[in-house]
Formats: sequence, structure tokens, C-alpha cells
Amino acid sequence: MASALLLCGKQIGGAVGRLLAGEGLAACATQLRHASSHAENTNTFLREALNRLDYPEKLQNLLLTPRREMSVELVVQMDDGQIEVFNAYRVQHNNARGPYKGGLRYHPQVDLDDVRRKTAVMDIPYGGAKGGVTVDPRKLSERELEKMTRKLVVAIKEIIGTYEDIPAPDMNTDAKVMAWFFDEYSKYKGFSPGVVTGKPVYLHGSLGREAATGRGTTFAIRELLKALHMGKLADQKYAIQGFGNVGAWAAQLLWEAGGKVVAVSDVAGAVANEHGLDIGELRRHVAAGQTLSSFPGGGSLAKEDILTFPCDVLIPAAIGGVIGPDMAAKINCKVVVEAANGPTTPEGDVVLRDRGITVLPDIYTNGGGVTVSFFEWVQNLQNFKWEEEDVNRKLDRKMSDAFAALWSVHREMGVPLRTAAFVVALQRVTRAEVHRGFD
Ligand code: NAD
Repeated sequence: MASALLLCGKQIGGAVGRLLAGEGLAACATQLRHASSHAENTNTFLREALNRLDYPEKLQNLLLTPRREMSVELVVQMDDGQIEVFNAYRVQHNNARGPYKGGLRYHPQVDLDDVRRKTAVMDIPYGGAKGGVTVDPRKLSERELEKMTRKLVVAIKEIIGTYEDIPAPDMNTDAKVMAWFFDEYSKYKGFSPGVVTGKPVYLHGSLGREAATGRGTTFAIRELLKALHMGKLADQKYAIQGFGNVGAWAAQLLWEAGGKVVAVSDVAGAVANEHGLDIGELRRHVAAGQTLSSFPGGGSLAKEDILTFPCDVLIPAAIGGVIGPDMAAKINCKVVVEAANGPTTPEGDVVLRDRGITVLPDIYTNGGGVTVSFFEWVQNLQNFKWEEEDVNRKLDRKMSDAFAALWSVHREMGVPLRTAAFVVALQRVTRAEVHRGFD
């Protein structure tokens, strides 16, 4: 595929830009002023895959260029009568495989870093997009937040849509924000539940979405263990950094499968029990407003020690950049399963590789969320609600098939699973572009 593109490089020059961008590449973050180390790290990993595919430098650079960037100002009258202006962005990368899709973030330093070729890895028919508003939502009343969201919809309504670009929740944008988004858009374009995903279950959301990323992570681990001949989920000890949506669901499902979750942490502390924590009890304890470290079913642990806690499977499920080279030299597990976005830096990755520790990359591992978002969209198009078991079964199938694709590239090309994931995604995007043609 790469050589075909090269041969006709001249004719397809304009189209190459389209091809490229794929989903959300870090370069867009730079262009939008808020470059981040996570963006740079993603770029490093992406370049490694591009090198494997033998794309020339010009093509590689073009691959980092989004198809469209929109920047708007939202003028909102606040509760006290003052006028505030918020900057908002939407960046669309590549839609060769289907409508753009990606998160919408509300944050004081909106950076468009969390973007990648995830939908291509999961083989769901979307291209990538990302957007956000530069705002600290904690400083806004609910009414102000709603007004701002509705202004955003009005400002970007011409470039989004059920078959155009489908935003999804991200940092500080939840089901409530998605419900406002859907409502406002429908005022202009008619009933359109499929314009956003992550809506409340009672308002065209999907059953199974809340647990989807943690559940997908569990399916991913199961497939990896099988491929590595490491046995079953029940045979392993797990340590999990982060006990929010993803970490707590992964912990619960691994525990239900008979696995021993020996340590978990959150932003405030950690708890460990080498015989395995009772995750059901622990979740009830936390839901009652108690801290992890006060859980009577385990001993308190310094949260800094979670990543070095002895286990078979280490699951970072909190924040990015936590496994740099120093930490990578100390961690004490057989495999690292990246449920969080960007937990391992490129330097940390090298150390893990040298130590023979397998890394299941975030771009695949946490793809369960976007996959069930896709299922939500399909249900919206059908105007039909699937049973939760149906959602979970289909998610299992997607995660298993995606793993098989990664594993086969990993074996055939002799590259790490992370590189394999990017290779799979790049090949899918490239193939779709080529088959669509360039005129
Ligand atoms: P969340 O806010 O529900 O939970 C985050 C957890 O991490 C909390 O328990 C918090 O206390 C903990 N945490 C924060 N800083 C920490 C620190 N310094 N040390 C230890 N723990 C810390 O978030 P989430 O939805 O569970 O997302 C977790 C990660 O997974 C993020 O990287 C997110 O981008 C990624 N992710 C989430 C989804 C999803 O569907 N929720 C999908 C894809 C990727």
C-alpha cells in the first residue's frame, strides 16, 4: 500500500493529507497551542509504526495534519450579568473510514492530546476528531455550563452531525452535557440522538456504557494471557492504579472472574492484601465515602508504591506519564496493561521492552469505551435499545478480534504490541483512503 501511494504521490498529493491525519494526531495539539508531553509521546509511538511501514518522511508529516480545524468564540452571559467569552475548538482528522468521532473536553488548558487511531484499531467505522472549550467548569454554575454548551452546539453545528462528526464525553463532560448537546442540536436539525454518544441511558444512551472501558480491559487481559500462555484471569495477581470508572470496573470484573486484586490506589492513597481484596466490599466502602486506605480488608499502602507492588498484571488506570524510565526499572510484574491514556512514556517503554515486560497499549486496551459509544450510535440509528448482555457480548467480540489483529502483526513484523496497534490502524486508514480513490 505504501509503495502504491508513493508511485502516484503527485496525483494524490492533496488526498494524502486526508489520508493522514487519521484520528487525532498529536501534531494538532501543537497547532492548537497546547502541545503536551502526552501528545509528543503519542507522536513518538506513531512514528515508530510509520517507520515500520516504510512511509517516506513527507508522507509521515502529512499524516500528522488534520483535515479541518475549527476555532470559535462562545459569548455567554453569566448569572451575574457579566459577559464571558470562551474559546472552543474542534479538530477533525480523517474520515475515510466513516464519520469523525471523538471527545469533547472542558478544561482550562484545553489540549487536544488524547487523540489517536483508536477507532481504526477497534475496526469500528469512524474517523477521528477531538474538541474542547477552554474553561474551568468548576467555576461555572450549572446554568452557565448549560448555556455555554448550547452556544457551542450553535457555533459548530455545521461541521458535526450524525453522519458527519459525533462528539463524546471526555474530561469534565458527562452524560448531562451530552443530553444538552443532543437537545440543542435537535432544535436545529430535527430529532438526532446519534449526534453525540455518552448520553444518559434513559435518553438514548446505551446499557453497558458505564462499565465498557473496564470490561473491555478485562477482555483484553484475557486475550493477552491466552496468547502468552499465562493461563486464565483467575490465575493472576493484579495491581491497579486508579479506582475511578475504569479502575473500579476492571477490579470488579477481574475479581468476579476469580482473579486476585492484590493492590489498588487512587489519588489519596492505596490498599493492599496479598491474598486478594474483596472488591465488592471495597466498592461499597468507597461508595459510603470512606478512603481506600481505611478499608479493613487490607493494609494501607503508600499510593506511590502501587506501581512497584509485586503482581502478575499491573494496570495503570489513572493518569498519563506515570511509567517513566526510573519507574519502569522498578516495576514488579509480568505484563503492563494500559487502561489509562498514555501511562508509559517512550523512555519508560524502552526500559520495559529491555526487561522483557509485555505492554498491552492504551490505544487498544481502553478501546471498550469508544466501541460501546459506537454501539450507542448504532442503536440510535435503529431507534432500538439492545439488552446489556448483547452489548457486552458484542464488545467481547470486538476486543477479541482487535487483539487477534494486533497479535498477528506483532508476530509477523516482530514489533511490540504498541507498534503493532499503530500499524494496524495506519493500514486500515490507508486502505480505506486508497479504495475510496483520490478524485
Ligand atoms: P476517573 O476520574 O473516574 O478515575 C480516575 C482515578 O484515578 C480516580 O480513582 C483518581 O483518584 C485516580 N487518580 C488520579 N490521579 C491519581 C494519581 N496521581 N495516583 C493514583 N491515582 C490517581 O477516570 P476514568 O474514567 O476511570 O479514567 C481513567 C483513565 O482511563 C484516564 O487516563 C482516562 O483518560 C482513561 N480512559 C477512560 C475511559 C472511560 O470510558 N472512562 C475511556 C478511555 C480511556
